Amino acid sequence: MSLSGKNSIAGELSAEGSDVFFSVDPRNKTTGSLPFYNATRAEVDRAVNAAAAAFGEIRHYPSSKIAGFLDEAAEQIEALGDDLLHTADSETGLGLPRLTGERARTTGQIRAFANLLREGAYLRAIINTEGPGQPAIKQMQFPLGPVAVFAASNFPFAFAVAGGDSASALAAGCPIVVKAHPGHPATSELFAGAINAAVAAQGFPAGTFSLLQGNGINVGQWLVAHEAIEAVGFTGSLRGGRAIYDAASRRPRPIPVYAEMGSVNPVVITQAALAARADEIADGLVGSVTMGTGQFCTNPGLILLEDSGASRDFISAVTEKMEAAPAGILLNESIAAGLNSAVSDTVTHPQIEVLTGAEAISESDYFCYRNTVMQTTAAAIRNDDRLQVEHFGPVTLFVVCAGAEDLKSTVDALEGNLTTTVHAEESELESIGGLLHQLREKAGRVIWNGFPTGVAVVHAMQHGGPYPATTAPGTTSVGMNAIYRFMRPIAFQNVPEALLPPALQDANPLGILRLVDDVYTDEAV
Ligand code: NAP
Repeated sequence: MSLSGKNSIAGELSAEGSDVFFSVDPRNKTTGSLPFYNATRAEVDRAVNAAAAAFGEIRHYPSSKIAGFLDEAAEQIEALGDDLLHTADSETGLGLPRLTGERARTTGQIRAFANLLREGAYLRAIINTEGPGQPAIKQMQFPLGPVAVFAASNFPFAFAVAGGDSASALAAGCPIVVKAHPGHPATSELFAGAINAAVAAQGFPAGTFSLLQGNGINVGQWLVAHEAIEAVGFTGSLRGGRAIYDAASRRPRPIPVYAEMGSVNPVVITQAALAARADEIADGLVGSVTMGTGQFCTNPGLILLEDSGASRDFISAVTEKMEAAPAGILLNESIAAGLNSAVSDTVTHPQIEVLTGAEAISESDYFCYRNTVMQTTAAAIRNDDRLQVEHFGPVTLFVVCAGAEDLKSTVDALEGNLTTTVHAEESELESIGGLLHQLREKAGRVIWNGFPTGVAVVHAMQHGGPYPATTAPGTTSVGMNAIYRFMRPIAFQNVPEALLPPALQDANPLGILRLVDDVYTDEAV
C-alpha cells in the first residue's frame, strides 16, 4: 500500500495544513522523506462530526453486525502482510519477531471482541419483573458515542490505531477518532487503510473511523475538547494522560478519560525466596527489566527487600547481569530524552546510589541508554514521592528496608500501580497474607512468584490500577472487560415490550444469558 502522509477523515485523505513532521528510524536516527501532515482544527472537527453522524446509525446495529465488522478488520490487518511489519520496524526498532507476535495479539484481541459480541452476555441484560408495588425494570449496556483514542508509542499495534482501546470502543458500538502517535505515523496510516477497507466492505458509515496525525499537543487538545466526543482512551505518560484528563474535566460537559499512565510495578522479594532461588529470580528480574528495552508500562521498576547479606549479594548479581545485558534500542528521541531526564532527576536525590548505568550512550548510532540499577532506602521512598516516578526504559531501583516493619510501612506509602508482585515460598503462606493484601490495595493485578511484563489478553485480566497508574481504577484497558469503558447502563421502567431492544424482550430472542429476578438464565421470562 502506498503512503500519503495525510490524515484519514471518514475514509477520505486530507491534508489541509502546512505543518508537517517525519518518521525517524531509531536504529540509525535517519529521517524519512515523506511528510506527515498535522491535522488542523477544521480537520479534527470534521472527523468528530463524521463520527457523531456515524453513531446515529451504528447505535442501532445488532451485535452480530459489529462482530462481522471486527472480523473483517482483523483480516484486513493481516492482508497488510509483511509491509506492516517492516514499516513498523523501521519506525520503532522493535524487531520483526516482537512485531509479528504483537500483530497476532492485535488481531487476536479484535477477534476476541467479535466472539464476545456473538456470545451476547456482555450486554449484561438484567430484568426485574413487575411485582406488588414494584414496576418492571429492565437494564442493559449501550454504547457511549464517539470515542477519542490516543495511540501509544511503545505498542505500535496492540495499543495503537487498531489496538485494545480502538477494538473495545468499536466493539461497544462507538465510532472512533484516533490520534496517531508521532513515533510511528506510517504504521498508523497502514492501519487506517485496513480499518477503512473493513468499514467499506461491511457497509458501515465512513465516519466510523478517522485517523488524525500530529506531533504536538494541539490535535489531542482539540479532539478532547470537541463537544461530540463522549469518552477518551489513552496510553502514555502521566504528564500527557493527566493533561488530557484535565482538559476533559474543563469541558462544559466533562467526559470520562480512561488513561493508562506511568507505573513502577513494585516487586517484594522475601528472604526465604532469596535463600531458595536467588539466581532464578535475578535472571527473571533482569529479563523483565530489559525486555523491550524496558519500554513497558509493566516494567518492574521498584524492588523491595529487607537488608541482609543475601539481599546485598542479590543486588550485586542483578547489577552484574544488567551490565552484561546488551543495551537495546529506544523507540525514539523523545523516549530517550524523557528517560535521561527522569533518571537525571532521580540521581540528584542524596539517598540514591547508582550501581550501574544512569547515562545515555550518546556515541551510539541508535537511541539507547545504559541498563541501569539504582539503590535507595525505605525511608527515602516514604519521604519523597519523586522517587516513585516511572523511568521508562531498562532501569530498576532497589529499596533496601531495615526489616519487616520497615518494608510494610514502605508498601503502605506506595502510590497506585498497574501491578504489584511478591516472590515468596510456600512455607510463608501463613505469614505473607498481610503483605499480599497490602500490595493488593496498590494495584490492579497482584503477581505471585512471577514478573509483571507480559499481559495476557483474557477475560480475567485486569490492566489498570489506582491513580497515578490510571485515571479510572474501576476499569481495565486489556481483556474483554475493556468494553465497559465505552458503554453505559440504561434501565427501562414499565416500557412496553415492543419498544424494548431484543436483549430485554421477554422471549429472549437472542438466547443470551440474563439476570432475571436475581437468577442467571437464558430462558424466556
Ligand atoms: P506521551 O507523551 O504521553 O504522548 C502520548 C500521546 O498523547 C501522544 O499522541 C501525544 O501527542 C499526546 N499528548 C501528550 N501530551 C498531551 C497534551 N498535553 N495534550 C494533548 N495530547 C497530548 O507518551 P509517549 O510519547 O508515548 O512517551 C513519552 C513518555 O511516556 C515516555 O518517556 C514514558 O515515560 C511514558 N510512557 C508510558 C507508557 C505506559 O504505558 N505507562 C507508555 C508509553 C510511554 P504528541 O506526541 O503529538 O504531542
